[in-house]
Amino acid sequence: TAGPLATVPDPSDRLLGGLLSPDFDESSCLSRYRAALYRRPSPHAISTYLISALRRYESLHRRCGPGTSAYARAVERLRASSPNASTSSSSPSADDCSYLVWNPIEGLGNRILTITSGFLYALLTGRVLLLHSSGGALDNLFCEPFPGSTWILPEDGDFPILGMGSLNGGHHESLRSVLRRGEDPGAAAWLYVHLRHDYSKIHHDQQFFCDDTDAALRRVPWLVFQSDNYFVPGLFLIPRHEAELSRMFPRRDLVFHHLGRYLFHPSNTVWGMVMRYHDEYFDKADERVGIQVRRFRWAPISTDELYGQILNCTQRETILPVPNVAATGGSDGQPTKQKAVLVVSLHGEYSEKLRDLYNSNNNGSTSTTGREAVSVHQPTHLGAQRSGVQEHNQKALAEMVLLSFSDAVVTTAVSTFGYVGQGLAGLRPWVLMSPVDGKAPDTPCRHAATMEPCFHAPPRYDCRAKTNGDAGRIVRHIRHCEDFPQGVQLV
Ligand code: GDP
Repeated sequence: TAGPLATVPDPSDRLLGGLLSPDFDESSCLSRYRAALYRRPSPHAISTYLISALRRYESLHRRCGPGTSAYARAVERLRASSPNASTSSSSPSADDCSYLVWNPIEGLGNRILTITSGFLYALLTGRVLLLHSSGGALDNLFCEPFPGSTWILPEDGDFPILGMGSLNGGHHESLRSVLRRGEDPGAAAWLYVHLRHDYSKIHHDQQFFCDDTDAALRRVPWLVFQSDNYFVPGLFLIPRHEAELSRMFPRRDLVFHHLGRYLFHPSNTVWGMVMRYHDEYFDKADERVGIQVRRFRWAPISTDELYGQILNCTQRETILPVPNVAATGGSDGQPTKQKAVLVVSLHGEYSEKLRDLYNSNNNGSTSTTGREAVSVHQPTHLGAQRSGVQEHNQKALAEMVLLSFSDAVVTTAVSTFGYVGQGLAGLRPWVLMSPVDGKAPDTPCRHAATMEPCFHAPPRYDCRAKTNGDAGRIVRHIRHCEDFPQGVQLV
């Protein structure tokens, strides 16, 4: 097609350089066309090829999505394929639709990353992505991303695959079982694909990332998957998709940045929370710093040690000023810059300590340190993760979005919550590296080489060599992650 190869979005362009469709009613989803007004403008070009692929996907979703006759036919054929069905299925025709059904597992960060991975797979393979909002997991969280349709799988009790949330790799209808039985995966009416970190030892799940399996799966009308991983880099390992992916993403380190801003628009309820926090903390600031603090059971560290690491990192990298430097201010003694720090964490201690530190010379909520006035804020400190509770997910999303409004972000290594914030922001974060034997590492944080999330459990099977391999050494633009060396990421 004619026109430039790539467009750099202008912040006043509510469609983000063509990333977003104009076909939505603004009031149904206030965030869709407004979030860009609060983020630093993305300096990252979008390929026109990706834009046309998204528009093509939207028309496919409109033609095949829930409520269409094509969808009803596909569900009917699926029902008729079950062993105890009494009806026989009609023969497939060329304009039949095929589907990929996502299931919610783990926390919201993980969910956002697996939806994105599923969406890219759907884009590449001509499938329609549907989300199983099990137990209302997605209620009043996101707006619909595709115009004139829904991405939520209808929960009318009529869907023929029962118990999707409890499927596992050993299920009779799984890719693993089909390959183990030596059957052709392409002959199945539906298949479950297990993309969780606990793949089977003998590679069958991981063959999802092999060329020949990928080709066979093309013929399966319904794929159902569960994943707790950002498996986008795995799709870049499949040779069949190489050419298409390089046209969509001439810069491979921007996959989540673009697809995340395309797919995830907080609902009006969540946007209301974002706006309230924004007006309270960020509105008057000259510079906004987001610090995301996550503690993992597998990486224990004391509160004081972690606080020390945060301080060490932020002062060393001049993200925050060193306090008790004489407050010189501007010529009139006023600070020249207002810096607002947003701490997001389940725990309240870190922001409290930071606030005390920057408040010690001052009774107000802002203290003057050198030429910067630092104020510290934290929207919530919920104590524990409760991913089954709607309000918890809404708050988590509001905080991820708020984090993405920052001018600089500090995140915790390995946290998918942090990956989402940095990706939506379009920033390479400073990453608080994982503790070693309960202590902060000597280098408290590193400026990441990429804003892409890490694929924590990449396939260990090398499809070409048909033996164990190293996914971080197969193609040039996929490397081991800085924050989690077993994983791989796009650079
Ligand atoms: P990860 O475990 O760090 O990879 O991130 P996830 O988002 O997948 O899971 C953590 C979950 O814990 C989140 O989805 C939230 O429900 C909760 N959580 C963790 N950190 C925060 C936080 O800073 N703020 C809020 N509101 N919730 C958090």
